[in-house]
Amino acid sequence: MSAPIRPQPGILDIALYQGGQSALEGVAHPLKLSSNENPFGPSPAALEAMARALPDSHRYPSTDHASLRAAIAEVEGLDEGRIVCGVGSDEIIHFLCQAYAGPGTEVLHTAHGFAMYRISALAAGATPVEVPERDRVVDVDAILNRVGPDTRLVFIANPANPTGTFLPMEEITRLADGLPETCLLVLDGAYAEFAEGYDGGAALVDQRETVVMTRTFSKAYGLGGLRVGYGYAPRDIVDVLNRIRGPFNLSGVALAGAEAAIRDRAWVAECIRVNAAERARLTGGLRQLGIGCDDSAANFVLARFADPAEALAVDTHLKSRGIIVRHPKSYGFPEALRITVGRPEDTARVLDALASFRGAA
Ligand SMILES: *Cc1c(COP(=O)(O)O)cnc(C)c1O
Repeated sequence: MSAPIRPQPGILDIALYQGGQSALEGVAHPLKLSSNENPFGPSPAALEAMARALPDSHRYPSTDHASLRAAIAEVEGLDEGRIVCGVGSDEIIHFLCQAYAGPGTEVLHTAHGFAMYRISALAAGATPVEVPERDRVVDVDAILNRVGPDTRLVFIANPANPTGTFLPMEEITRLADGLPETCLLVLDGAYAEFAEGYDGGAALVDQRETVVMTRTFSKAYGLGGLRVGYGYAPRDIVDVLNRIRGPFNLSGVALAGAEAAIRDRAWVAECIRVNAAERARLTGGLRQLGIGCDDSAANFVLARFADPAEALAVDTHLKSRGIIVRHPKSYGFPEALRITVGRPEDTARVLDALASFRGAA
């Protein structure tokens, strides 16, 4: 018999998060293109800074993250007083739901939106609401039509995952201006660095009282394993989030690594340059093989096949060649595979494997 204690309503509705597969039986070094990680790893400067910070691991870390926030503010042109750092941007998403949503309120996300929005909404006791997209692009009118007096948060990833599609700033602004004052617009900028000329929505945050941006060190900066992200928001919202943030949420090693990473501009610029070139090659190569895909503004491409069976067959074929991609069935794309953009030799290997599938089929 199990104990009569029960979790809060909503908790048991949470499906466990499925991460990208990372191992293949019988393959010593698979090519992992399943989690949108930086194929070049962290900046060497970040690795050095972490090694230097390691001996101080008996000390508690900074509680206000002042040094990291100052570095982010300097590099990104932000107000350091309106930055809050988290254990990945996942933690900022979680804080926002904990602080602003709860029983009787709604949290909106779009049809193919990131899984953490729903998970964090349910964890807060709120009701997640899914709004349709139009041709795999966030649909501002569909969101505005669905928002109601109980809606507290609207989550938009731009560029979006797993579609890679991009919503222009005019559309984001139209969305922000159409939402009631009782609702926060959260712009998840996990892939913002890869979208040329896009500031992740930072300028809009500066101009509005109900817009929040989240950013991460997990993608362009190659530090997914370190778990550092941040939110940029109006001052009163940052104050709220800091009240529920654990005082030592980021380790000293993580703070040192992230600060060195964001200050190493040359490294991230080179990673972004290679990504843009390889993304174009991968997209062009897919289309040449007759595989449909949208233009991506991120570091991955969503390849669409005839049906779920074909996507599975291609997935199996890629695995037989030591390549792991993501089958985004839980994101509403059973007929697609999401392929992270890798190094030039990785692009060649993926396209070669796909061509051989076509040849065999
Ligand atoms: C990868 C990703 C994140 C980043 O999560 P972290 O917790 O910062 O590692 C956030 N949003 C989306 C849409 C992502 O794909």
